[in-house]
Amino acid sequence: MMDVKRNIRAICSSLPEGVKLVAVSKFHPVETIKEVYGAGQRIFGESRVQELIAKQPLLPEDIEWHFIGTLQTNKVKYIAPFISMIESVDTFRLLQEINRQAEKFNRVIRALIEVHIAEEGSKHGFSIDECKSLFTQTTLKQFPSIRVCGLMGMATFTDDTDQVRREFGILRNLFNEIKSIPDTDKEIFTELSMGMSDDYKVAIEEGSTIVRIGTGIFGTREY
Ligand SMILES: *Cc1c(COP(=O)(O)O)cnc(C)c1O
Repeated sequence: MMDVKRNIRAICSSLPEGVKLVAVSKFHPVETIKEVYGAGQRIFGESRVQELIAKQPLLPEDIEWHFIGTLQTNKVKYIAPFISMIESVDTFRLLQEINRQAEKFNRVIRALIEVHIAEEGSKHGFSIDECKSLFTQTTLKQFPSIRVCGLMGMATFTDDTDQVRREFGILRNLFNEIKSIPDTDKEIFTELSMGMSDDYKVAIEEGSTIVRIGTGIFGTREY
C-alpha cells in the first residue's frame, strides 16, 4: 500500500511558496482520492472525460478539477458545468467549443494554452509561433467566456536533465514574452504549468507555478 498522505505532505512541504500542486488522480479510485483530500489537497487533475465525470459526483464539491489530457471537442459539454481549469487547450476549435459551452452554462472557464516544447513528435499543443499569434493578434478576445490564465507544456520524456531544463526554459521565455505584450492582462496571465513526478524540481527552477504530480503521490498507475 502506498502511503499517499505521507507522499503528499512530503511533496507539499518541498514546494516553494506560490507553486500550486495538481494531484493527478487518473486511474486511481475515489477512495484513494478521498485520502489525499483528507490530507488537505484540493486541486486534482484528470485526463479522461469519462473517468472524470464518473468520479466528480462522488467526491467533495470544493475540489478544483483540472483537465489535463487530450480533450475532444464533442466532450467539452460534459465537463463545462464544473471544471475549474482546462490546462490542455491545444486547438483553435477547442477554444471555440469551450467558449460556447461556458456561455451555455453561464460560466467563465479558466484555461491554459498547451504548447508543444518536447522534441518527440507525439506530444500535443500549439507550436511556439502559433501560440504567440493567439496573443499578438488578440484572437482570444473572441472568447469572452474563457479566461486564459497562462501556458502548459510537457518536456521530452528523457533522463537528459539538460534537455528537460532547456525545454522548460523555452516555455518560460514564451510565457514572459506573452506577459510583456501590452494587451495581456498581467493580473490574469499568471500561470505556467510545467513539471510532473520526474521533472518537477527542474520545472520549478525554471519558473513553474503549477506542477502536476501523479505517480509521486499515488504510486504507479495500473492501466
Ligand atoms: C499523467 C499526467 C501527469 C502526471 O504524471 P506523473 O508522471 O504520474 O506525475 C502530468 N501531466 C499530464 C498532462 C499527464 O497526463
